[in-house]
Parts: sequence; C-alpha cells; structure tokens
Amino acid sequence: MLSYWEKAYFLDYDFIIAGAGITGLSTALEIKEKFPHSSVLVIERGIMPTGASTKNAGFACMGSVSELLADLKNSSEDKVIELFKWRKEGLEILRKRLGDAQINYQQNGSYELISEKEMYCLDKIEYLNLLLKSVNNTTFKLSSKKAIDFGFSSSFKALIENICEGELNSGKMMKSLINLCLQKGIEIKTGVEIISFTQLNNKVDVNVKSHSNELSFNTFNFILCTNAFTKSLFPQADVIPGRGQVIITKPLEHLKFKGIYHFDEGYYYFRVINDRILFGGGRNIDFETEATTEFAITEKIQKNLEHIMQNKILPSRTFEIEERWSGIMAFGEDKFPVIRPISSNVYGAFRFGGMGVALASKTAKEVVKIITEEK
Ligand SMILES: Cc1cc2nc3c(=O)[nH]c(=O)nc-3n(C[C@H](O)[C@H](O)[C@H](O)COP(=O)(O)OP(=O)(O)OC[C@H]3O[C@@H](n4cnc5c(N)ncnc54)[C@H](O)[C@@H]3O)c2cc1C
Repeated sequence: MLSYWEKAYFLDYDFIIAGAGITGLSTALEIKEKFPHSSVLVIERGIMPTGASTKNAGFACMGSVSELLADLKNSSEDKVIELFKWRKEGLEILRKRLGDAQINYQQNGSYELISEKEMYCLDKIEYLNLLLKSVNNTTFKLSSKKAIDFGFSSSFKALIENICEGELNSGKMMKSLINLCLQKGIEIKTGVEIISFTQLNNKVDVNVKSHSNELSFNTFNFILCTNAFTKSLFPQADVIPGRGQVIITKPLEHLKFKGIYHFDEGYYYFRVINDRILFGGGRNIDFETEATTEFAITEKIQKNLEHIMQNKILPSRTFEIEERWSGIMAFGEDKFPVIRPISSNVYGAFRFGGMGVALASKTAKEVVKIITEEK
C-alpha cells in the first residue's frame, strides 16, 4: 500500500533506464547532458551492477588482427571499419567524461600473440592498416619483441602490436560512472528487478519487485540497457548470452611484461593488474555450456585456463590463483550493438559481444540521438 507522498513524489520519471552497467550509466549521463532538467532513474537488480561491466578484463579494445579477419568473413569491409570507428569514438568519450586518472587509463601496449596456425595474420597487417587508414594512420605493427622476451611460451611465434588500444581499471571506471551520475542528479536504485513493462497511452509502466514489494514506476521513456539479460524483458531480442570465466593470480614478483594480450581470435586474454595476472576466456572450448546467463564457473574451463597460464603465459614459474569469477556477455548475428526503438517510448541499447568497454559510450550517444529525434 503506497502513501499519498510516495505516489506523488516517488514514482514518475521522464526517463527510466534498465541496468546500471556501463551502457545504462553512460546513457543516463547522455540524457542529462541533452535534457538537463529531466528526471532520470536507473534501476539495477543487483546490489551493485551485476552483468559484465564489473566482471570484465578492462581492455579498451578495438579488435586484433585475427579478430578483424574473422569479422571480415561475416561482415563487409565498410561495416568492420564503421565498428572500429565506433569503438575508437566510444573510448574517446569515456576518457573525456571520466578522465584518465580516474579510471587508470594507460597505454602500456596491446599485443596479439600469434601461434604457428595464425602466422597468416602477419601477411594481413598491411591490408588492415590500409583498410583502417580513415580511422588511424597506423593501427597494427609487427612487434620487434619476441614472446620469450616477456617470459611467454615459444609456441607464440610472433607478436602484433595494436597501437590504439589501452587498459583501464574496470572497478574504478564503474565507481566513477556511478559517482558522476549521482553528482548530476541521476537516481540509481539497486536491488530492484524490473519484471515487465506495459505501455499506457504515451507513458510506460515499469513494473518492479524488491524483497516482498512490487510496484510500478511511470515514465515517458524507457530504455533497456540490460545486455545479455534483455530477453527476460523483451523476448524477441536477438541476443545469445555468453559467459566469460576469469582467474586472477596472487601477486607475482619480477613479471617481465605489462600491457594487454590477446590470442586465439580474442578468445583468450590476459593482463597485469597490481602485480597479478588476470586471465580469462576459453568459451570456445565449450560454447554450448557457456551460452547461459548463469553466473558460475566450470571445471572444464577453469582447468583449461590454469593449464594455459602454466604452459603458455608463465612457463616454468609457480603461481597461485587468488580469485575466480564469471560475467555474462551478449552475442548476436554481428558485432554491432542493437540500438533501436522497441515500441513507442521504449528503446533498446544492448549486445556488445565481448567488447563493450570502448563501445558503450558511443552506443549511449546513439540511443539518445534516436530518442531526441523522435521527440
Ligand atoms: C569476463 C568478461 C571479460 C570482458 N572483458 C572485456 C574487455 O576486456 N574489454 C571490453 O571491451 N569488454 C569486455 N567484456 C565485455 C564488456 O564487459 C561488456 O560488453 C559491457 O560491460 C556491457 O555493458 P552493459 O552495461 O551493456 O551490460 P552489463 O554490464 O551486463 O549491465 C547490464 C545490467 O543490467 C542489469 N539487469 C539485467 N536485467 C535486469 C532487470 N530485469 N532489472 C534490473 N536490472 C537488470 C544487470 O544486473 C546488469 O548490471 C568482458 C565481459 C566479460 C563477461
């Protein structure tokens, strides 16, 4: 039972956003910039953002040579260039919005580790540099460094450097986004799950539950920023969830490398953070099991990650695993995010593949552009 005060002051918002990941928070900020006097509410079902944004590796990535070549098998050159541009622009927005110091943004080098079966990538560097010329003067170069210089296994035959990628601290990034939202007067409610939405004339009822309470907020604009979980609110969404599992070591002395590393078309990735190695991936060895929204770790992938860590990243060194976790990504027919009206006054901005850190801010800008054009 709601009071007169609750009904009068707590339920109506100009904009309601589902999901407080990087996309939901960036969308809220874009809205406040465009409509400074509007009331904006972000609703998050986790106690904190609980999808991919607080679980990821913090690579500000644009795509490695083998990934882009794989993308070119399913997408046109123009689409691949466009997506690369979006990621670059998204990263610029994020860095400008939060500041490099706030998110520990650094460019310590980004490398793709090439094994024997991927040596064909070396012959494609020039082609990709030419393709991406309108975005960067040079994007990729064959590194003069060898895997062995970093202490990695000699099964990696070459390293390709990506000049425009960097790394950041995902925890700091998400905290900074939340703080900035609060500073700008955006409300965030956590521990509140949206169970459905209903359209009524020119408004949307957003039906939520929290503990034993159920109620409806009302809004003129409802935006789904729920990435891998979008189907629970919008079953027609073209989204396939993909779980990503991660391990992180205890601190290690005398590591010979820094920066970010990918291999196997981006299916594996690792970096150094606070003297630890964060290593994730391996979804490709068990696609079927990992196409889930369930947060869990599996023996198969965890053992695979440990095996590769021991044999390829830290051969002849001992290490201990400090933490293990998983997060949920969203995949679809191509790597472009879905940005579209869903029905009148309802919009969606979701599906980032495994690369939303750079892309989310640009996506937020684009969905707000669509909303603005419709007003
Ligand atoms: C292990 C892992 C490593 C990754 N590494 C990288 C990387 O290095 N670089 C990179 O660019 N990308 C990486 N990604 C991908 C990147 O993290 C995502 O693309 C990005 O975080 C997506 O952000 P989002 O806000 O759209 O989604 P999310 O962060 O998933 O946010 C969606 C939010 O919606 C909430 N929600 C869902 N349903 C409801 C509901 N019904 N009611 C209320 N709230 C709801 C969820 O709780 C969640 O907090 C990685 C992902 C994973 C899992």
